[in-house]
Amino acid sequence: MMSRNSNPLFSKLRKVHAICDAHSDLRAAFDDVREDAKHLKAPISIDLTSRCNLFCEGCYYYEGNDQAMTDEEDAAKWRAFFKAQAENGTKYLYIAGAEPALHPERLRAAADYVSNGIIAANGTIKIDPDIPYRIAVSVWGGPDVTAKLRGGGTFWKALRNYARDPRALFSYTINSQNIGEIREVAHIMKDQGAQMTFNMYSPTESYLSKIARGVENDDAFFRFSSEHDNLAFKSDDLKRCREEVDEIIDDFQGTVVYPSAFNHEVTIDGPLFDIDENTGIATNCAGLHNGTHKTILSTLKESPNKCCIPNIDCKTCRLLANVLPSRLAPYDKDVQDAQAVRNWLNIRRYWSWFYLKKPYVELRAPATSSVLNQDRQNVPAQ
Ligand code: SF4
Ligand code: SF4
Repeated sequence: MMSRNSNPLFSKLRKVHAICDAHSDLRAAFDDVREDAKHLKAPISIDLTSRCNLFCEGCYYYEGNDQAMTDEEDAAKWRAFFKAQAENGTKYLYIAGAEPALHPERLRAAADYVSNGIIAANGTIKIDPDIPYRIAVSVWGGPDVTAKLRGGGTFWKALRNYARDPRALFSYTINSQNIGEIREVAHIMKDQGAQMTFNMYSPTESYLSKIARGVENDDAFFRFSSEHDNLAFKSDDLKRCREEVDEIIDDFQGTVVYPSAFNHEVTIDGPLFDIDENTGIATNCAGLHNGTHKTILSTLKESPNKCCIPNIDCKTCRLLANVLPSRLAPYDKDVQDAQAVRNWLNIRRYWSWFYLKKPYVELRAPATSSVLNQDRQNVPAQ
């Protein structure tokens, strides 16, 4: 077994501690985020259902063959399952689907036994106000683009359901076709008093393969995509996305919650994770089923797949739900100096906002104007 002295993670954490000891603001922030992480005891991912009421182009769930397509329908079995998880020490649930809001009785059973969690929802169905979990409502652009990409005009309905809900955040899934709409949607979110963050569209292997092979469109999750008209990012899109989002972060403070450092990380041109060249699977992703993390399918069976979103191509995976938890541990670049630790702690604070509803206040370098002006420049361009 590797000793603490030779373990690379412990070595990085020692460097973080040394830098925090020399900067009181960083020390306080680090202690806070370490406390927050304790809420994540024995978390599990759950596909609450295989059903959905939308038809999003290139859907991570349906565009591919690796997800369950049936549900365990016995409500008593769902209750027994959540009770057993709680007895086994689970303190946090990542609840997704397809669309979990379609099953309020399963959400009720989850909340009766496990007090913390997050629900990834499409916003079309109101979740009972007494379910205490965070709710991440997906947004795919302004009203017209939403109708095109999701197979239904759901934009305003989601806002009516969740803009004033203190549990909710709106997660704008950026793709190559909706970068130009981010500003308009940020204005709407601000007017509505909502908070917004960003997710990066990540294509499934099936979606990319259909585009590459010129497969004929269908009437479900591959309605219009082709080589010249699809949602995947090209290099130029990523650069445009990075620049646009940086401006939006500055212009919509209080509405848009998203660290610039994270924006720069998820818009690099190339894989975000180390990829095993034999399997094509990421080796350092927190979403992997590696013995400590598991996903329970809508059948109530444990997933045998690589991760909770097995249809996605690891080489182009930028999904917030897995990239963000992967940043709970520092990378080498995070421990180079005080600004690097500050950037990392901002990502950790963002994690606490996203998963635990804690207020997000960006840590800034000590307030001399020249240093503040350098803040953005010091965010690694990668
Ligand atoms: S992306 Fe989500 S909301 Fe859209 S079709 Fe797929 S499961 Fe449903
Ligand atoms: S979450 Fe991780 S394992 Fe799953 S597709 Fe993305 S990079 Fe691969």
